[in-house]
Amino acid sequence: MFGPPGAGKGTYASMLASRLRIAQISTGDIIREEIKRNTDLGKKIVDFVNKGELVPDDIVVEIVREETNKISGKNGFILDGYPRTIEQAKALDCIEKIDAIIQLGVPEQVIIARLSSRRICMKCGAVYNIRYLKPRKEGVCDACGRDLYQREDDRPEVVRERLKVYEAQTRPLISYYRDKAEFINIECNSVDIPPETIIRRILHELQEKDLIE
Ligand code: ADP
Ligand code: ZN
Repeated sequence: MFGPPGAGKGTYASMLASRLRIAQISTGDIIREEIKRNTDLGKKIVDFVNKGELVPDDIVVEIVREETNKISGKNGFILDGYPRTIEQAKALDCIEKIDAIIQLGVPEQVIIARLSSRRICMKCGAVYNIRYLKPRKEGVCDACGRDLYQREDDRPEVVRERLKVYEAQTRPLISYYRDKAEFINIECNSVDIPPETIIRRILHELQEKDLIE
């Protein structure tokens, strides 16, 4: 699942993973969990994340290697938020072949509108939006009942930095994968498109390309 910060990668990846009964690997979620638990790794990476910078490649590659090992032999997986640099993509080439890149095209105003109203469950990491994807009860996770919070890196200054990092380091991956995987382009040019509609489009494209039944 490929696209700028705030494109909805995590939301769509988790919906697709459950629909297709495959695993979801979200490096962002794993990284936030390490930070929350204040592990040695968490302490090492917290400053990068809070500033909107990328966590160093060697650390993220190791995380993904461990995760793919855990789920090997299953139906497959969807990566959300990885790879983000050419180095990460090269490392992934040695781990697993990628069938398809689902590329989310989202205008900058939509990104900023979404991120400023995004809220995350402090326990399970489920993602809500106080304007577009509200929980049933305000401030409380539908899935597990715990409180929602705003990510440190969803503050406007940090969002600007994340967008810069995306343009400089991650967007070049599109040409890296040009001949290596199928591309599915999904345009999300309005904040009002329901996630369900996006999922339907993605599933349709995956079928057209014979990647799912
Ligand atoms: P978003 O895509 O909305 O920025 P993520 O949850 O995917 O959110 O990532 C949040 C932060 O976690 C990133 O800004 C970065 O600091 C770190 N991170 C996540 N995935 C990676 C990765 N593959 N490489 C480096 N840093 C990462
Ligand atoms: Zn929750």
